[in-house]
Amino acid sequence: MSLQQDILDLIKKASLRNYSKQIKNNIELLQRILDETSKYNMELSIPEMVYLILNPMETPFCHRGNKKVFNSVEKGYRFCGNKKSCLCNQENQKEKMTIVQSKNH
Ligand SMILES: [Zn+2]
Repeated sequence: MSLQQDILDLIKKASLRNYSKQIKNNIELLQRILDETSKYNMELSIPEMVYLILNPMETPFCHRGNKKVFNSVEKGYRFCGNKKSCLCNQENQKEKMTIVQSKNH
């Protein structure tokens, strides 16, 4: 079975409140999760690793290369949360406004 499927099965069995504890106790599964996320080259929490594996299109970085703030497996990432050093949040707001404005034209 794929790692994704194994994680989904475990979350189903253990519930969203307890799965990370269950993963910690499952050394074999934990090792596969660590191997899968070693490409990011940083220490990540279990929920964050799980989220990244379940959402292969996601990355822990915003498009300007800053680490995004992780929320939860259900909610995913927020912006990098660093308004001073990264403009991605503002850029996103601007994009939204541009879409609204172009609709009005
Ligand atoms: Zn950013």
